Amino acid sequence: MNGAGGRREPVTAWPDGWLQIKVPLPFSLRWVNAYLLPEPGGGWTLIDPGLHTEEAVALWEAVLKERRIGFGSIERIVLTHQHPDHYGLAGWFQERSGAPVYMSRAARDYTLRLWGPKRSFETDLNALFKAHGMPDVLREGIAGHLESFVAKVSPQPAVDFIEAGGRIAMNGLDWETIAAPGHARGQLLFYQRESKRIICGDQVLPRITPNIGLVPGPDEESNPLRAFLDHLTELAMYDVKLAFPGHRDPFPNFADRIAELIAHHERRLQEIAAMLAEPLTGYEVCIRLFGARIADDMHHLRFAMAETLAHLVELEAAGAAVRTEQGGVARFRAAANIY
Ligand SMILES: [Zn+2]
Repeated sequence: MNGAGGRREPVTAWPDGWLQIKVPLPFSLRWVNAYLLPEPGGGWTLIDPGLHTEEAVALWEAVLKERRIGFGSIERIVLTHQHPDHYGLAGWFQERSGAPVYMSRAARDYTLRLWGPKRSFETDLNALFKAHGMPDVLREGIAGHLESFVAKVSPQPAVDFIEAGGRIAMNGLDWETIAAPGHARGQLLFYQRESKRIICGDQVLPRITPNIGLVPGPDEESNPLRAFLDHLTELAMYDVKLAFPGHRDPFPNFADRIAELIAHHERRLQEIAAMLAEPLTGYEVCIRLFGARIADDMHHLRFAMAETLAHLVELEAAGAAVRTEQGGVARFRAAANIY
């Protein structure tokens, strides 16, 4: 995978003319996968173009030039989900190509809550983390952290909606759209029955476990981990030859990877249940799970906290943990030895 001088080769060619572009990220994830799928008329479908940073723009300009792909040949931009590392450059590409941007309505609504003119996510997230015991001094960092993403998702695109249970033409073929709950609200996966390929966003990743977090808001999934695990069980039944994920590299052993992800979360649930001999807040569990240093970085803390809460909510729903509330702060303790 590494080219001369140890630099990562940004483009990998896959059969049928597919291109995987490793768009750089300023996080420990290192890169997000964009995919360019050739169309019968000479154009391209672009999947998940990446986060809007100077580095990402420079990479795209170099890749398009080298491959002689003009902006005008991009026929459509398709987004698996609205996380900024996937969505951020959609508007930038739309400005240059005039291509439609497709995503689910739920995913679009979420972008408005995060980065729209009447954004409400910060207030909701603050209230959620306060109710689960995160200290005030740490919650003060939430606003700046969320604000730091606005430039990285601007300009924001005009969106056409696609929904789960539908179909979309890409690569000259007919793809099924699949609802994929748990990791991101409104996430869609794309499955092609004849070639047995799946574009699986961040729902199934090789080598790393997708973040499954409790997110605030009235219309959110109340138990995202259960939704995720139930969906993985369904997804394992798809006949997949090659899976194209949002991070790391395409991989063949789709059902095996799903089994590993399910096992990972079952272990995590047991580990957390074992901590709850004494009542703990979500924040206290988070620190025990991820270590005190997680609090040094708001980006990591936010995802660690949301992930912890998703597990606590599932333990509660399964009857393995009981929630008590005092002074507006929730605590969880083990109820029975279910996990
Ligand atoms: Zn994501």
